Amino acid sequence: MDLSQSMHVLTWEVTKACQLHCRHCRARAIPHRNAGELNVEEIGAVLDDMAEKLSFKPIIVFTGGDPSEREDLDQILEASISRGFITSISPSVTPRITDDLVHHWAEMGVRAISLSIDGPNPQIHDRFRGVKGTFERSLQVAHAVVESGMSLQLNTSVGRFTIEGLEEMGELAKSLQVSSWEVFFVIPMGRANLKSSLDAEEIEHVLEYLADYQGKVGFRVTAVGAPHYVRVQHEGGYMGDQPPRQIVREARGFAFIDHLGEVYPSGYLPLSGGNVRERSIVDIYRQSELFTSLRDPDRFEGGCGACDYAVACGGSRARAYAVFGDPLAPDPGCILSGADLPALSQA
Ligand code: SF4
Repeated sequence: MDLSQSMHVLTWEVTKACQLHCRHCRARAIPHRNAGELNVEEIGAVLDDMAEKLSFKPIIVFTGGDPSEREDLDQILEASISRGFITSISPSVTPRITDDLVHHWAEMGVRAISLSIDGPNPQIHDRFRGVKGTFERSLQVAHAVVESGMSLQLNTSVGRFTIEGLEEMGELAKSLQVSSWEVFFVIPMGRANLKSSLDAEEIEHVLEYLADYQGKVGFRVTAVGAPHYVRVQHEGGYMGDQPPRQIVREARGFAFIDHLGEVYPSGYLPLSGGNVRERSIVDIYRQSELFTSLRDPDRFEGGCGACDYAVACGGSRARAYAVFGDPLAPDPGCILSGADLPALSQA
């Protein structure tokens, strides 16, 4: 698949409304919906555009905020499923998410549910999510998802407040029968700051653990916000004789639409390539200056530009922007980038 032509995954923030108070929230979620959100007809038009122009239909993950805050979520899901997109939901675990609702989504044809569990116990998870009882409820929802036949993707944010429980968290993922475990490295944006992020040495250790753990389990273990996972896997001999493959990251196999229709390279990189109300998302993805620059390793600065892994990895453009205000700057989350690493720990 040519990642300059098609995204592999499109994450779609259909609302910013959410009733949780997560301390790292990318979206700075708010309690109420915004009147300017894309409506179902507008969402359908974007889906039509992608169905017509893309040779590979991306996996679509409807997220928020909390997508279940939208009364018309069923219509949105139906619009996506009926056009042949593999459709997934990333709901917030609130009292709204009942076992019946989970089974309803499965019957509609939703293929996967992404749930966030950030630690192996309530002390870590509930403190991080800002609402007591969320951990226990998340486990119940996870069991309901597996029971319904949908795939369960577990998302774990790893940063200063959750790193202590990460290995136990991996065991929990296994016991919950996940189909994939995605470890999100906290990017200092939204409600997260530099103090809640890990430094490059710590990230390297976590990536080594993930590469090793991947070899021991039958589900996918991936890193989000740390594309140098591919370097760690390759250097560690986890890929055998295979050359390092291009990893999906911002603007390369991935795009994000916000609730107002702005198209970002990632939910963690708040620079817009355009708005779907004015321009085709496919054109934005393929041709906008922002998206094309983020796919061009010749434009990366510092260690990332000079790196042997510039093509396969390219660094987290979101972290570069969050720390230096320049998405083409070196990724300070990598020990090879040559970036000013102390910036992370001194902030
Ligand atoms: S220096 Fe940049 S391109 Fe090289 S492995 Fe590190 S993050 Fe990736």
